[in-house]
Amino acid sequence: MAYKFLIFDLDDTLMSFQKAEEVALDKTMEVFFEEDLRSQARKAYHPISKSLWQALEDGRLDSPGNINNLRFKKLLETMPHRGHYKDAAQFFWQVLGEQRHLMEGVEELLPNLHGSYHLSILTNGIKKIQHRRIESSILEGVFTLINNSETLGVSKPDPRIFSLHLEQLGNPSKEEVLMIGDSLKSDMAGAKAAGIPCCWYNWQKSPLPSQNPPDYHIHHWREFIPLLNSSL
Ligand SMILES: [Mg+2]
Repeated sequence: MAYKFLIFDLDDTLMSFQKAEEVALDKTMEVFFEEDLRSQARKAYHPISKSLWQALEDGRLDSPGNINNLRFKKLLETMPHRGHYKDAAQFFWQVLGEQRHLMEGVEELLPNLHGSYHLSILTNGIKKIQHRRIESSILEGVFTLINNSETLGVSKPDPRIFSLHLEQLGNPSKEEVLMIGDSLKSDMAGAKAAGIPCCWYNWQKSPLPSQNPPDYHIHHWREFIPLLNSSL
């Protein structure tokens, strides 16, 4: 089947969230924690943030919009700090929104897709941050539709978010659509539940799951165009 509609995840698929988060976290630590506490605060941040994103994926949290305040509230409760958690959250958010690190190979990939496919983004991220990161990056103007879970009111892997996204693409036949992302759960299981073919961008080279594997997988974006051509 020739795919015509390519739906991409954003974080750690097109843009490196890991790098953006590292920079934002470093700067936030410098402002809100004394030097000797920064590495401890940094370590404490990750499990807190991860558990909140997990809660969102599992449906225990309604909106990604609350995650930023919540994680800094929890973090600052655990140790001595300067300032208010809301200011730390706001500062972190500001710096995060300024980061536009692309995943390796994206810059070379996009010109080869642009004009030949309907390109869109479906992300679980926070609307304000995601839009700021895309603006003034090479992603701007390339994707005809950019949706996030905050706007659509439901998060990946819930199949309803894929249906809403497809509706906005004009309800193409699902066989013509390919979902590409780095998360086996949000992107791959979500797409499968919605009946959409999926390609796992497995840049971390994790083992393929034995149960319910994705339809395709790649380790690097250079493998993607040959994959699209071979699926014609
Ligand atoms: Mg991702």
